[in-house]
Amino acid sequence: MKQKTILTGIRPTGNIHLGHYFGAVKTWKKLQDQDTPFYLEIADVQALTDNFHQPEKVRKNVRELTIDALACGIDPKKTNIFIQSMIPEIAELTVFYSNLVTIARLYRNPTVKAEMKQKKELFGEDGEGITYGFLGYPVSQAADITAFHGTHVPCGDDQIPLLEQCREIVRKFNNIYGNTLVEPEAILSENTRIKGLDGNEKMGKSLGNAIFLSDDEETVTKKIMGAVTDPEKLKKDDPANPDICMVYYYHKLVNQDYVDTVCSECKRGARGCVACKKELIASMLAFLKPIQEKRNYYLEHLEEVDEILKEGTENARKLAKETVQTIKEKMQIHYFE
Ligand code: ATP
Ligand code: MG
Repeated sequence: MKQKTILTGIRPTGNIHLGHYFGAVKTWKKLQDQDTPFYLEIADVQALTDNFHQPEKVRKNVRELTIDALACGIDPKKTNIFIQSMIPEIAELTVFYSNLVTIARLYRNPTVKAEMKQKKELFGEDGEGITYGFLGYPVSQAADITAFHGTHVPCGDDQIPLLEQCREIVRKFNNIYGNTLVEPEAILSENTRIKGLDGNEKMGKSLGNAIFLSDDEETVTKKIMGAVTDPEKLKKDDPANPDICMVYYYHKLVNQDYVDTVCSECKRGARGCVACKKELIASMLAFLKPIQEKRNYYLEHLEEVDEILKEGTENARKLAKETVQTIKEKMQIHYFE
């Protein structure tokens, strides 16, 4: 029985938003307190697959994301934070695994399909401009996980098809080269998919519908004031359906003690949308305050952030090197050692 190891990742395509916090980071915080190795990858190579034309954006967000994660309570003494591109062994594994997956299978991956559709300006109306790198990012994700013998992957439900792809690669590898790799399992949080301000099923960094943990008061106010509510409610005293209202939805996240009142008042027309939004703004700002205070500390101590990343990357690389050595032996491509 392999020891439990947790591996998770986040793409440096923007700051951490509420979707990440409630969908993933909260679970990471719980898991880092268990006595289990925990690796958090800042997936810059994966971020480049659909941001190859904006390298400065990816670069800037590596540090930003690390600061956000630390501000949320990710503790570098318990969680090994590392930068993907600084572990070339992951790229090596990606090349090896690319023989174990068909192009047709990658095209069928529901997450790849959904993301291709969202990125029409990059990949064309019918995906005819899709790159080899983007189509293959699930393969690189399998390399991320197996490089560290990840047995458990805490993630949102958009990652499930990618994990399934990883498990298939692991099975194929083990069938051909002998039992070597472990099939990872997902750890889903209770909030597997947090919706966006626009009512979209997913709040996403790249979707323009997110509240970021770094948003200031003015931005939070503007975003919540513009959030989607029940379109049938025209006047302040009209009864409405909270289940289709994003303001109620976020009250449930940051205002748990009060949410039943919000719900019943909304249903019987005793709650105007503007007042309801103002209450949410106040709760949201209170929720963000301690996180932003910690963010400010790290923004003033960037040398600490860089040291955390450097140390985490060095540690992670040691393990990835051992894995590649084993894999090369299994694949009979170990020479002169
Ligand atoms: P991008 O649009 O650039 O892909 P993203 O917002 O999807 O950004 P990722 O870095 O791809 O963020 O995802 C990091 C982790 O956060 C993953 O485990 C993902 O499942 C989870 N996650 C992202 N968005 C949400 C959401 N809205 N609800 C729950 N979990 C989420
Ligand atoms: Mg994503």
